[in-house]
Amino acid sequence: MSYTPRKEMNLLKEKNLLNKDSDVNVGFSDLPNQIHRRTGKKAFEFTLLVCGESGLGKSTLVNSMFFTDIYSDEFPGPSKRPSKTVKVETNKVLLKEKSVNLALTVVDTPGFNSSVNNSNCWQPITDYIENRYEEYLNAETKLHRKHIPDNRVHCCLYFIYPSGHSLKQIDIETMLNLHDKVNIIPIIAKADTLTPEECQQFKKNIQNDIVTHKIKTYEFPDYDDENSEAYKLQKQFKTKIPFAVVGSNYIIDINGDRKRGRKYPWGTVDIENQDHCDFVALRSMLIKYYMLDLLDTTNNVHYENYRCKKLSAIGADKIGSNLNGDSNKNPLQQMEEEKKDHEAKIKKMEQEMEQVFEQKVKEKLEKLKANENDLLKRQEQMNKDIEKQRIALEEKRKAFETEKSAFEVFSRDVEEMRRVNTMEMNNKEMMEKEKKNSKKKLLF
Ligand code: GDP
Repeated sequence: MSYTPRKEMNLLKEKNLLNKDSDVNVGFSDLPNQIHRRTGKKAFEFTLLVCGESGLGKSTLVNSMFFTDIYSDEFPGPSKRPSKTVKVETNKVLLKEKSVNLALTVVDTPGFNSSVNNSNCWQPITDYIENRYEEYLNAETKLHRKHIPDNRVHCCLYFIYPSGHSLKQIDIETMLNLHDKVNIIPIIAKADTLTPEECQQFKKNIQNDIVTHKIKTYEFPDYDDENSEAYKLQKQFKTKIPFAVVGSNYIIDINGDRKRGRKYPWGTVDIENQDHCDFVALRSMLIKYYMLDLLDTTNNVHYENYRCKKLSAIGADKIGSNLNGDSNKNPLQQMEEEKKDHEAKIKKMEQEMEQVFEQKVKEKLEKLKANENDLLKRQEQMNKDIEKQRIALEEKRKAFETEKSAFEVFSRDVEEMRRVNTMEMNNKEMMEKEKKNSKKKLLF
């Protein structure tokens, strides 16, 4: 049956669970339960890598830890297999506790340290871890990435041979090669072969070796409150590192109780008795208290380191040899430097753009000024031309006025002359008329 929030709401309604405390609470206090209900449906994916010498009890411990035969007759533990190999092998199993599913993958490194040539014996392990990161990165960068199967290695249980002395060179080198890629939890295998004093001394020697050789083992999350339960618990776990463990797939009778243990002629070891070994502490730490933190650290630290390295390598490839990439550099530091470079480039580009902008504005203003001057000159010239034309017109007008006055005087003179002429003509006519009249009178 598929899960939907609506179905769940209907169920709750039927059971009359709704409105129960809606008057007092808004409801967000139920968020952890919502997360629990949601996550309960899908399995948590956890990958545990076990490494160390063959025959150190790796498969026995993993079986004891998860109360299951991860290694069975069909798939025996490394030391039971007929031939030893340096190939990394995985075994997946789906475990269920109450309503929570755990998809556990155990990655084994059989033959590690038992092959003739031990140089670079960590290589198949680092290759395996990086290949899983590569797969995850590829899936993440795909277009459709609804659910990416998480096959990344979340924890490495590093089994140390119970020599009682200190770390072997091969252990130091292997851990140094792994510590930037995976959460390492060191373990003293078959701790029942050491006396309590030897075991304590061996732990101290290993702790010193870890500090001296700067080996980074899994770091517990930080808690500020020194009085908190989590802080106290973490402190207890810290004192136990490396966990001295005893594994057993046998159920034996211990004081009337049936328990996982080992029986010897001189007594029995109850692997779940904290006075006998750190098996329970390791199991609680790994599964009960810090499994989510191991998942987070893998994702946020180790995978992130890988991703940065990978992406900056791609970036460096693209940019070419002019990028002074130092492959030994911490990828985060390199990213930071690249970021600074990038910011400096952007700033330079901004400055250049500002300069170009300013130059363009200056040119534009100069052009506008030149245009304005040109227009002013043209206007001045036009004004001068107009003035010239005005003066010329004024002169013409004056000349015309003079001509007009002269013409008027002339017209008046002509009129006068015509009048005088007319008068003279009239007088003449009158005199001739009188002459004629006087002649007529004389005739009569
Ligand atoms: P692996 O090759 O590392 O996986 O080792 P196995 O789990 O196959 O164990 C190898 C042998 O060591 C088996 O006979 C186990 O019964 C035995 N063994 C496993 N764990 C312990 C332990 O804690 N103490 C002792 N004394 N023997 C163990």
